[in-house]
Amino acid sequence: MDYDVIIIGAGPGGIYSAYELYKKCPKLKVAVFEAGQELAKRHCPIDGDKIKNCIGCKSCSIMSGFGGAGAFSDGKYNITNDFGGTLYEHIGRAKAIELMKYVDSINVENGGEGCKLYSTAGTSLKKTCMQNKLKLLEASVRHLGTDINYVVLEKLYDTLRDAVDFHFMTDVTKIEVIDGGYKITHAGGSSTCSQCIISVGRSGSKWMESVCNDLGIPSKSNRVDIGVRVELPAVIFSHLTDELYESKIVYRTEKFEDSVRTFCMNPHGIVVNENTNGIITVNGHSYEAKDKQTENTNFALLVAKHFSEPFKASNGYGESIARLSNMLGGGVIVQRFGDLVRGRRSNEKRIAEGMVQPTLNATPGDLSLVLPKRILDGIMEMIHALDKIAPGTANDDTLLYGVEVKFYNMEVTVDENLETAYPGLYIIGDGSGVTHSLSHASASGVYVARRIAEKRG
Ligand SMILES: Cc1cc2nc3c(=O)[nH]c(=O)nc-3n(C[C@H](O)[C@H](O)[C@H](O)COP(=O)(O)OP(=O)(O)OC[C@H]3O[C@@H](n4cnc5c(N)ncnc54)[C@H](O)[C@@H]3O)c2cc1C
Repeated sequence: MDYDVIIIGAGPGGIYSAYELYKKCPKLKVAVFEAGQELAKRHCPIDGDKIKNCIGCKSCSIMSGFGGAGAFSDGKYNITNDFGGTLYEHIGRAKAIELMKYVDSINVENGGEGCKLYSTAGTSLKKTCMQNKLKLLEASVRHLGTDINYVVLEKLYDTLRDAVDFHFMTDVTKIEVIDGGYKITHAGGSSTCSQCIISVGRSGSKWMESVCNDLGIPSKSNRVDIGVRVELPAVIFSHLTDELYESKIVYRTEKFEDSVRTFCMNPHGIVVNENTNGIITVNGHSYEAKDKQTENTNFALLVAKHFSEPFKASNGYGESIARLSNMLGGGVIVQRFGDLVRGRRSNEKRIAEGMVQPTLNATPGDLSLVLPKRILDGIMEMIHALDKIAPGTANDDTLLYGVEVKFYNMEVTVDENLETAYPGLYIIGDGSGVTHSLSHASASGVYVARRIAEKRG
């Protein structure tokens, strides 16, 4: 075999597998194959000036490369079983928390030491939420910020680069089962290994599907979350963000009893475009450094859509809605809440006159022409519910960017070791559908690496 272990994908799942293998079994021959660039070469060409919109690079620097989809993220490592994935269903609640804390300790050792750990433990905001039909989910969160997150990744790469064979810009196209292991076909030829960890994240979802089909690995897919990104003056949410940094709040709508939740809260942050398979959606992040912070806070409001048989293309449904916004706005659409309530399109003049200066250059438009009524009603109900705990949320000038879609990878059948029915073939991170976050994806990587180390004795 060329390698003892091949890891496909250098996102948090892949990086932490490699890190833990290096710590536990430094003599193992390990390779990482990554479709994107190494960290220092990851640059998105959109500069807002000469290049305003996505030009469809061969490898998207935002989603691919060392650090994966998380490299330019807000770097919020949530330690919780309440959201971010269902790793605990496979490995147990206590183990999942232990591993997330371990990942946190590595982040702290590698540059995150100055970043605060926020917690919902003992907060009075829980009661305030409850009194207003809102549920605050439990979590501790270390906010690295986009800048420190990058520093941590740089340090991890420095630790690993001499111990592990990294192959960047090398898509893996095929996995075959061979005697005693696996043959990986990739852009540079092929390589063999005894054990293989697949950690291809969201951007590798289509490829993951083909692997499951080829190898007969059962999978299911039935969920997509659709909504908007809200941007408002930071001061309106400061009592929540100062204490908790990120509050995950869930609301059950009166009209349809749908679940709407806040997601990815970025105090003093910026709203950004996200490109998933050529479709432009919206996201957000923020910096730890004060000089890069803005006067706005942004967060997503997402409505979870679970489909039942016979419909299976939940992600396709989300993509179609995102495409509609791209068709009308040439990308992301922005609308004032007051305009949405009044049933009119926003325009540049009204936005410029408002209290909230947009941090993303999006096209003023009308989200009611894009989002299904049920989803839009849920979002509007939630904005009014949040207005009770953070007065000003439902102000006319609050900006809504659409659409934000949280695609879920299909859930792949893996056992309590995150191993498929093929011995030594592991599927981890967001690509497995088991995790949806930095901390869960990273923890799944550590878990599998330890399993491989234990097996070697
Ligand atoms: C803008 C943004 C902000 C975010 N902010 C947060 C946050 O603050 N907190 C949080 O918890 N989560 C956040 N997330 C989500 C988080 O980034 C993901 O949950 C996490 O990165 C998943 O890690 P992963 O290793 O499973 O997959 P990924 O990070 O997606 O990495 C997978 C890697 O595999 C590579 N790959 C795919 N297919 C192949 C192939 N065939 N061959 C070789 N390589 C392949 C990809 O190029 C990619 O680099 C954010 C995501 C985005 C996009």
